Amino acid sequence: MTMLTEEPVAGAAASGSRARTRLPWHRVLTLLCVLALAAMPVLPTPEFWITLANYIGLYSLVAIGLVLLTGVGGMTSFGQAAFVGLGAYSTAYLTTQCGLSPWLGLLAGLAVTLCCASLIGAITMRMSGHYLPLATIAWSLSLFYLFGNLEFLGKYDGITGIPVLSVFGIPLQSGRAMFYAIWVVVLLAMLLSSNLLNSRPGRAIRALKGGVTMAEAMGIFTGWMKTVVFIMAAMFACISGFLYAHLQRTVNPTPFGLNHGIEYLFMAVVGGVGHVWGAIVGAGVLTILKDVLQGLLPKLLGSTGNFEIIVFGVLMVLLLQYSPDGIWSYLSRWLPSGPRAHAPDPAPALPVREKPASGELLLDVRAVRKQFGGLVAVNDVSFEVRAGEIVGLIGPNGAGKSTTFNLITGVASLTAGEVRYRGERISNEYSREIVKRGICRTFQHVHLLPSMSVLENVAIGAHLRGDFAAQGGVAAAMLRLNREEERKLLFEARVQLERVGLGDRLYDEAGSLALGQQRVLEIARALCADPALLLLDEPAAGLRHLEKQALAALLRKLRGEGMSVLLVEHDMDFVMNLTDRLVVMEFGTRIAEGSPEDVQRNPAVLEAYLGTDAMGEHEGAGGDARGA
Ligand code: ADP
Ligand code: MG
Repeated sequence: MTMLTEEPVAGAAASGSRARTRLPWHRVLTLLCVLALAAMPVLPTPEFWITLANYIGLYSLVAIGLVLLTGVGGMTSFGQAAFVGLGAYSTAYLTTQCGLSPWLGLLAGLAVTLCCASLIGAITMRMSGHYLPLATIAWSLSLFYLFGNLEFLGKYDGITGIPVLSVFGIPLQSGRAMFYAIWVVVLLAMLLSSNLLNSRPGRAIRALKGGVTMAEAMGIFTGWMKTVVFIMAAMFACISGFLYAHLQRTVNPTPFGLNHGIEYLFMAVVGGVGHVWGAIVGAGVLTILKDVLQGLLPKLLGSTGNFEIIVFGVLMVLLLQYSPDGIWSYLSRWLPSGPRAHAPDPAPALPVREKPASGELLLDVRAVRKQFGGLVAVNDVSFEVRAGEIVGLIGPNGAGKSTTFNLITGVASLTAGEVRYRGERISNEYSREIVKRGICRTFQHVHLLPSMSVLENVAIGAHLRGDFAAQGGVAAAMLRLNREEERKLLFEARVQLERVGLGDRLYDEAGSLALGQQRVLEIARALCADPALLLLDEPAAGLRHLEKQALAALLRKLRGEGMSVLLVEHDMDFVMNLTDRLVVMEFGTRIAEGSPEDVQRNPAVLEAYLGTDAMGEHEGAGGDARGA
C-alpha cells in the first residue's frame, strides 16, 4: 500500500533499508483506512452505510480517472458518465439477452470502451482550450440518447434482471458482499494510478501541464500520452459501470447522462483534482452531502425538488475561492509530513551517445527564414556549429534569436531554408524526433512544473533513455516492473543536478527556486537527454555574478568533454569570455560572424547593436578564457 501517496514514492523506494527503519505516517494512515474499510461489512454497520460506501466506491473509481485526465493531464471531461454507461450496458445486455457470464460482459465492455475511447481520443485529444470540454459534452449527450433510443437496450426503461456477480464461485448477492469487490477495485485503481504517476511515463503525463512545447522538446510524444490517459480514465469509468450494473441488477440511461458527467467532475474538483486521494475524498463528501441535503432541504423548505444542486453550486464557488486545489490539498496540510526522502542512491549509468569527433560539422543552418504574417522574424540566416565549440548568438531584443532556436529544434516550422544536423536534414521534423538525434534545449521563458520536485522535473529530460522508452512503458510502470529503470533515471537526474550546482535542492518544489536557478534546472534537464549539442536561450539571465562564473565554468567543462553549445546571451562579459565564435543578428538578419575579438571591432556591430562605448569596456577581454 506504500504507493497510495503523492509522496516522491520513487525516491522512497530507492532509499531501501533506510525507509523501512521508520514507518512513515502515510503508510500508517493508508493501512488504517484499509483496515477500517475491511472491517465495515463484518461489523454491525447499518445497511444504509454499506450502500452509501458502495456508491462512494463506484464514484471514486470514475473520479480517479478524472484525477489522471483532468488534474494531472490538464484535459477537462464532462463525458465520463457515458463510459460508465458503456460498461453497464455491455454486461447488462450480454448477461440478460445472450446468457453470457458477467466476466465476458466485463471484457466486452472494456473492449467497446477501448474502441470508443481510442476513436474519440484520436479525434478530440488534438483539440485545445474550450473545444475539448465541449466535445466531451457532445459525446456524452449522444451516447445518452443512443442508450435511450435503441430497441435492444430497452429504450428509456433499460434492462432488468441482471444476474448476481460471482467471484470464485461465491455469489456477491448482498451489498455487503459487493462492498469488497468494489473497494478492492478502487484500491487497485489507486495503486496502479500512483505507480504510474511516479514513473517515467507518469512524469511525461504530468509534463503535459507544463506545456506541449516543453514536453515534445524532451522527446515526449504528447498526442500518445494524452490518448493513454484518456483511455485509462475511460476504462476506470467502464469498470465502475460494470460493478454498478451488478450491484443494481438493472440499468437505464439516466445515471449515464450529462448531469452525472458534471457531478463526477465536481467530485474530482471538490476533492482535489491533483491527487489520487482527492478522488475518494470528493466522492465521499459529495455523496454524503447529497444524501443529507436530500433529506434536510425538503423539510426546511416545505416542498420537494433538487435543491441540493443549488447548495452544490454555492459550495463549488466557495471552494474554488478559498481552496482551489480541493479539500485534499487542504487536509494534507494538517497531516504530519513524511520523512524527507534522501537523494537517489547510485545506480548503473544510463547508456550514453557516442560524441562526434572534435571539429566535425554538427549543425548547418542554411538560409533559414521565418515569417509571421508580414513580419520577417528570421531573414535567410546561415551559420554553422562544429563539434566542441561554444557559439554565441547575440543581438538586440526582437532580433530573432529565440525564433532561430525554435526553427532548429522543430518548435516552429521554417518558411524557407533548411537545417542539417551531422549531414542529415532535420528541418520541419517534430521536436521529439530532433531531440532523439542529440539536440536538446532550454527555454528563454522557463517551462517547468512548479509543484513538482526539482529532481522529477529534471528526470523528464531523461524520458528517451528509459529501458521501456521504446514500448511506452505505461503497463510496466503501473505494475512497478520499472524499479531498475526508475533508479537509473532518478540517479541520472541527481548527477546532472549536482553537476549544475543544485544538488541540495533535489526535493524542493521547482517553483520555489529563484528564476535564475529555474533556468539552471532547465540546463540539468537538457543534460539528462545526453545531447551532443546543447541550445541555451539566455541561460545566465537572473543569475548573480558568482553563479554566472560557475555556469561559465560548467559550460567550459562540458566543452572539454566534447559537448557543443549554441547559446543566446545578453551579458557581454559572459559571452566574450566564453564563446569561440559569435553570430550577431539584428532585425532577423545576420549582420556579423566571427571570433569575439573580431566581432567587437566590427563597425556594423558597433553601430547597429552594441554602441561604441559598450564595446570599449570589453576591449581585449575576448580571448582570455577560450581554450581553457
Ligand atoms: P529575440 O529572441 O532575438 O529577442 P524573437 O525571436 O523572440 O527575438 O522574436 C523575433 C521577432 O519575431 C519579434 O519581433 C517577435 O515579436 C516576433 N515573433 C516571435 N514569435 C512570434 C510569433 N509566434 N508570432 C508572431 N511574431 C512573433
Ligand atoms: Mg529571445
